[in-house]
Amino acid sequence: MTRSIKYPILITSILLVSLITSKSFGQPANTNPTKPIQGQTMQLTDEQWKERLTNEQFNILRKKGTERAFSGMYDEHFDAGTYTCAGCGTVLFQSDTKYNSGCGWPAFFNFIPGTINEHRDTSHGMNRTEVTCAKCGGHLGHVFEDGPRPTGLRYCINSASLNFVSDSTK
Ligand SMILES: [Zn+2]
Repeated sequence: MTRSIKYPILITSILLVSLITSKSFGQPANTNPTKPIQGQTMQLTDEQWKERLTNEQFNILRKKGTERAFSGMYDEHFDAGTYTCAGCGTVLFQSDTKYNSGCGWPAFFNFIPGTINEHRDTSHGMNRTEVTCAKCGGHLGHVFEDGPRPTGLRYCINSASLNFVSDSTK
């Protein structure tokens, strides 16, 4: 009895396997580099990050640290240009969305669409929204709802998570 049941299952399995195999030969994996990849695309080990980053950048970007208020190099920096992720170089913010919030960290009221992910963060007994780089997952800072118009948002970002590219050097 069991023998007669097993046999058709075996046949079906072989048929299925050959079907899947022929299908995968007909449609090879996407190797087109121009097609955008969704999600976090840059994943390195802690050791690899340590080779690329300073100790401060590593502690903030990879370990979700925070630089001391008013200590960062871009807190009161208002030159024209773009701010990139210090981890992977993705262009995150334009200088025309940066403003002086007085909070002690660089503040922006908007970011370049698609470059930042937001996550609920309940660490340190607070209810905040963490923002990370969409490409490398690096911790950037937090977003608060006390920013200026038109968004009403304040992206409060660690200077150490950013690099600045001046318009005049482009
Ligand atoms: Zn990044």
